Amino acid sequence: MYAKPAAVLLLAGLVAISAAGCGGSSAAPAPSAPDSANAAKPADDAASKSAGGSGSTQPGQTAPPAKTDPAAAGAGGAADASKPPTQSGTSASKPPAAGSKNGAIEVVANPADKTVLVNKMYKLPDNYAPQDLVEPNVPFIFKEKSEKRKLRKEAATALEKLFKAANDDKLPLAGVSGYRSFATQKSVYSNYVKKDGEEAANKYSAKPGHSEHETGLAIDVSGSTGKCAATDCFAATKEAKWLAEHAADYGFIIRYLKGKEDITGYQYEPWHLRYVGTELAKELTKRGVTLEEYFGQTVPVNKQ
Ligand SMILES: [Zn+2]
Repeated sequence: MYAKPAAVLLLAGLVAISAAGCGGSSAAPAPSAPDSANAAKPADDAASKSAGGSGSTQPGQTAPPAKTDPAAAGAGGAADASKPPTQSGTSASKPPAAGSKNGAIEVVANPADKTVLVNKMYKLPDNYAPQDLVEPNVPFIFKEKSEKRKLRKEAATALEKLFKAANDDKLPLAGVSGYRSFATQKSVYSNYVKKDGEEAANKYSAKPGHSEHETGLAIDVSGSTGKCAATDCFAATKEAKWLAEHAADYGFIIRYLKGKEDITGYQYEPWHLRYVGTELAKELTKRGVTLEEYFGQTVPVNKQ
């Protein structure tokens, strides 16, 4: 039932690496991280940071695939993908969409699943909005009320535990940008298109529906001082090292890994955390593989 993973390779080929991971706004071409870009431009940030660069749709991701198969390959990357994880899930059931092979964007069938794959190939349904957004009780680097403070309930609870653990280790953290609505992302992207034209905008801004921040399961974090928030220099901080070592214990992964740019489509973003649950987070981290590699980028999708 599962299609073969040629998709990963395609992904790599089709997706230009842009900064998009977190911030839609990042300046694209530049190597700098997307988020960082955002940081630079506060306005954007908030709005645009998202994971997605361009669209893609995701397969219905249901349950995270069975643990291992895909993984094995993980290290290698694309190749492995060949074995898609088994989908346990509930939702997904269709074979991989052919669309991706053609570079077509697929709409994910399980947008509310904590393991949902959202990237340049897989997008959330238009106007999708998580139903259980809450504000985690953690500090942020800004004072105002904002949707950026929100995460889905399970992720928010996990984030509180993560921040407490970091604080206990004398490395207090702060939130930089969490949830971003479809409308916000659409507005930001639209403004970039008006300003620079669509082609240029696509290089540094995520199209609406393609940002992981729209799932309510992703958040950019920094040290409590906000130093290096969503910028490349964060990689050299003690906080970044701590996160890489401990995030999985609380269900989070460093979504855009160094060296996996051709697979995720994004620059290394040590500050962009994605909640997937502890079981999958530990597995992915242990293997050093991305969500794309885990799913073989071929999870079933619902075409819309
Ligand atoms: Zn981000």
